[in-house]
Amino acid sequence: MAYFDFTSFEVSFQQYVKYVLGKPLDEATKKDQLNAVCYAVGKYLMDIHFDTRKRYEKNKAKQVYYLSMEFLIGRLLSNNLLNLGIFDPCARFLKKQGIDLETLVEEEQDPALGNGGLGRLAACFLDSLASLDMPGYGYGINYDYGLFRQTIVNGYQQERPDYWPNRSSPWLIRRSEEKYVLPIYGKIEERQDKNGHYKPMWTRKKLFIGRPHDIMIAGHRGRTVNRLRLFSAAASKDFDIDIFNDGDYIKAVKRKIQSESVTKILYPSDSKETGKELRFIQEYFLVACAIRDIIRKFEKQHSDFETFHDHVAIQLNDTHPALAVAELMRILVDEKKLVWETAWDVTVKTLAFTNHTLLPEALETWSVYILNKVVPRHLQIIFEINQRFIARVKERFGPDNHEMIAKMSIIQEGDEQKVRMANLAIIGSHSVNGVAKIHSDLVKKQLVPEFYSMWPEKFNNKTNGVTPRRWIVACNPELAKLITDAIGRRWIADLDLIWELEAFQNDPGFLERYGAVKQANKQALADYIRDTVSETVDPLSIFDIQAKRIHEYKRQLLNLLHIMHLYLTVKEDKKDIGPPRTFIFSGKAAPGYHTAKLIIKLIHNVAHAVNTDPAVNRQLKVIFLPDYRVSLAERLIPAADVSEQISTAGMEASGTGNMKFAMNGALTIGTLDGANIEILEQVGKENMYIFGLDVDEVAALRPNYQPKEYIEKDDRLKRVIYALRSDRFSPSEPGIFRSLYNSLMSPGDSYLNFADFIPYVAAHQAIANDYQQPEKWSTRALMNTARTGFFSSDRTIKAYADEIWGIRAQIREKDLW
Ligand SMILES: *Cc1c(COP(=O)(O)O)cnc(C)c1O
Repeated sequence: MAYFDFTSFEVSFQQYVKYVLGKPLDEATKKDQLNAVCYAVGKYLMDIHFDTRKRYEKNKAKQVYYLSMEFLIGRLLSNNLLNLGIFDPCARFLKKQGIDLETLVEEEQDPALGNGGLGRLAACFLDSLASLDMPGYGYGINYDYGLFRQTIVNGYQQERPDYWPNRSSPWLIRRSEEKYVLPIYGKIEERQDKNGHYKPMWTRKKLFIGRPHDIMIAGHRGRTVNRLRLFSAAASKDFDIDIFNDGDYIKAVKRKIQSESVTKILYPSDSKETGKELRFIQEYFLVACAIRDIIRKFEKQHSDFETFHDHVAIQLNDTHPALAVAELMRILVDEKKLVWETAWDVTVKTLAFTNHTLLPEALETWSVYILNKVVPRHLQIIFEINQRFIARVKERFGPDNHEMIAKMSIIQEGDEQKVRMANLAIIGSHSVNGVAKIHSDLVKKQLVPEFYSMWPEKFNNKTNGVTPRRWIVACNPELAKLITDAIGRRWIADLDLIWELEAFQNDPGFLERYGAVKQANKQALADYIRDTVSETVDPLSIFDIQAKRIHEYKRQLLNLLHIMHLYLTVKEDKKDIGPPRTFIFSGKAAPGYHTAKLIIKLIHNVAHAVNTDPAVNRQLKVIFLPDYRVSLAERLIPAADVSEQISTAGMEASGTGNMKFAMNGALTIGTLDGANIEILEQVGKENMYIFGLDVDEVAALRPNYQPKEYIEKDDRLKRVIYALRSDRFSPSEPGIFRSLYNSLMSPGDSYLNFADFIPYVAAHQAIANDYQQPEKWSTRALMNTARTGFFSSDRTIKAYADEIWGIRAQIREKDLW
């Protein structure tokens, strides 16, 4: 724990307000106060960071670098205070100044530098690396605009720019003295050096620069502070001077704007825009900056690049940074003068790749044309890698096995040649992992069986996890306190210990307190709902929450079909549907994803029908909370009774939302998909509602799927579908949901919504019945909290560290206590 020095904290705080902001203390606004606290906390972080770096250097510790286009880190103040162990003293200090820490925390803007699960995973990993005292740094992009802010107008999603005040964020340290100059565009001239060796020259290139910014990442117990390094693009001065000397001022300014635009905006996933050249340049920019920074650090302590992989591990978070294969080869061969074979051996031993998706449309390819234009030398290297690789494929599978060659080649032939980033990443890495057991199996069997048969030893699984510091301690402090009172506080560092809570499953007093924590969180969410969307909800109703990106495969539509069924049951049949229920949705749709946006509109229209109907709205409410983001997740998750994890089996790689909800005592209603399967293994089927087709059944059904058959078989489904078609939920905008109706009714509906409808309704009926026995429900919720220790990202990171990276903790427990 860091030691909280009251006096020096006070001095830092006051000096910041007076001398940096230039204000008397009593004129400081809330924002000023927030910045002043962050500044005072920042001093702790920096001191510990210096110690941490010294320790790594002294130990000559092997380092891992986590390359990711997204880091969805969330607010940092309360997490930093908690991890440093100075939350309570800081709150006391502020109270003396008349400031409430809880309110101040809400002033912090959520940095939205990611789309969802993939970026949030990267953030959890950084927390775990630091908390395990391991040398692991993140590399990413300092976007000016993060993921768009979502507002809702007449039930439709509207996107607004989210300007992240990255120039003024109190956590972001500008390293103005450091920069990397990066070549881009131009031509390769085939030349030879004086010994007659091939020496390509990258000529007529343009230059732009990357500037690093650091965010300190504090580990639990405040012993290790690592860093996340984010790069911003800028125009190169040298280049500008040339143009200025030509006297072309306008051209110089244009050039500056172009360079800076590279890190202007985070691309929303699932949008067509992601195929644009600028996105490719972003990927190149990240890789080029990160690899240069890694090399510079390596050269501070070492000089022999043949041993690079003994000191450095690089993890590629999805294929977005896969160009690292070519960039590392380029530096080792062109600049460090290693022979190709040695450079290749070093590159493969250094790099490792995480696959995040099986959806074929999400597999990244870039046209050879774009690579040739933007990074001609890298393209040349990729062709060379491919040629040597194809030779090995021929050795392994026979010289005339053209089918195998076509599948495995980095280059996809066709009207337009394309570079397959997944193939490049797999060939250039020594490890390829999926993110849940079932997903890793499908990677081997379905996605890339050819690569698996060539290199079975490369493939492995690392089931995702989430950090209990943010996802229990920070977001659910009353639950954390209850757990600590019961079993001590070591569970925060070692979540496996949380199983000790099982001892309380028959303790009525404990169960009552556990239930009371949930009830208080539900009340707080009810207040938030009232304040943000002006709806009243019954805090005693079942809070059933589906919060995640809006996507057809996640099946918000299936959830809606069931809600419409409940609505019609009350409205038409005048039947009792059991305990009152509040269905809460939250999530963003990619701006160009029309079906997902229409689903948001349907949620709102169903909500309007339900919530305004006095015959229904005491039993049922439907809420959509706009602008899903980390800080909103932190409110929703502790308040959930039921967690909706209902993707079509085989389509959700892992999910991490499912883990956060279960830890906080929500019971999952879910399919046998992604990490749901492993949650089931841990918590037991009596503590979960599993329904629907499994992966094999989905695969068997898909070619023969006939939605009409399900409608004919089930009158409830028929009624729901007819209601959708009849404009019952869109009287003032007839026909708007016709395309949703058509895709649900199409044998080509790859998400098989109707096939899981009947078992889904049955699972919800079981929930309604079980909820009426509150004590039993609390026991089962408690079993979810007690049995999800496996889903700590600490467990995940230990496995990456041991089995892929070869890095270790740099503090031993026995040195400490
Ligand atoms: C955890 C999290 C996600 C991922 O949720 P899934 O249900 O796994 O898709 C997305 N966005 C935010 C803000 C999160 O906290």
